[in-house]
Amino acid sequence: MPDNELTSLRENGLLRSLREISSPNPPFVTIDGQDLINFSSNDYLGLSSHSALAAAAHEAITKYGTGSTASRLVCGSLDIHHELEATLATAKKTEAALTFANGYATALGTIPAVVGKGDTIILDKLAHACLIDGARLSGATLRVFPHNDLNKLERLLKTAQGRVLVVTESVFSMDGDLAPLSEIVALKTKHEALLLLDEAHAVGVLGPNGQGLTEHLALQDQVDFQMGTLGKALGSAGGYIAASQDWIDLLINKARAFIYSTAPPPSQVAASLAALQFLNTPEGCQLREKLNHNIALLTSLTRQTASPSPIIPIIIGENEGALAASQSLLDDGLLVPAIRFPTVPRNTARLRITLSASHSEEQIQGLAQKISSLEQ
Ligand SMILES: *Cc1c(COP(=O)(O)O)cnc(C)c1O
Repeated sequence: MPDNELTSLRENGLLRSLREISSPNPPFVTIDGQDLINFSSNDYLGLSSHSALAAAAHEAITKYGTGSTASRLVCGSLDIHHELEATLATAKKTEAALTFANGYATALGTIPAVVGKGDTIILDKLAHACLIDGARLSGATLRVFPHNDLNKLERLLKTAQGRVLVVTESVFSMDGDLAPLSEIVALKTKHEALLLLDEAHAVGVLGPNGQGLTEHLALQDQVDFQMGTLGKALGSAGGYIAASQDWIDLLINKARAFIYSTAPPPSQVAASLAALQFLNTPEGCQLREKLNHNIALLTSLTRQTASPSPIIPIIIGENEGALAASQSLLDDGLLVPAIRFPTVPRNTARLRITLSASHSEEQIQGLAQKISSLEQ
């Protein structure tokens, strides 16, 4: 009976429900007629409402229609899909790239195409659900190392069997901290393993051109699979892998989430392309600077340690406490979600603040004040 499961979720403070947003207008959202300042979206640069993306999407609908009508391998592979992938490969300094309907499908398609039974996947403990699901689906042996624990990672590398794939994120989605990428690259090179790096929360944020931690550390030629989403800072939707031509050719032939799914619609592809092109413009650079300014402002006002990303968690512990804090912020017009198990480990329920370049200084000062008052 689903009723029992729902009751148990409710009793444990773990029940989730959907909020209906009637007007997204970054950095605001309207819920039940109330205008809230949104500190919960991953739209780090405010691009989801940028006129350049909207214009590109409109133009693509006029030219190609609203749907791509089939899988990429049947008759859905439009010239703009290829243009987007060529642009991604250039941005990532790889030979090739492949796009999927979203980031989740990217992980589910890619990981089982790269490793299988008899191989080993070594995952960071805090890796995103889609990476875990992709790993499980592959049938490879799964090994987990404590978050960012290089010693344990090396021990697992020493005993791993078959083809070995290390999987981690560059900016961790619920903690906002970074993977020690240079050290991980050194270890995977020493032990001849492959590395898949999920840059979902780093693209648009880190690196001289906003291409992520790999670009920030100039390690593009060391990361075998640069994965990301086009749906967060890039303001559109879709996921991608940037890699060597051989790997991309294999994915086209083997990644089931790619093969057996209708190609992303033209409007989504055109908006993604416009977003990528936008990142390199002076306005794109200005928005990244504004975002960094906002991050520094909030952490200094709340006396937190400097954050390398726009994800700022305030750990509360108990589910009920986190929900109450989130509600109290909501009552003051601030949308900051409470994040609970199983998204984060038990007893680490938290408020997860995400900042955007579209927040004003006054809005950040208001949030900082409210957070400080909650802490007293
Ligand atoms: C959001 C997210 C994904 C999934 O990307 P979608 O395009 O939203 O499906 C993958 N990995 C991480 C780390 C994410 O935060």
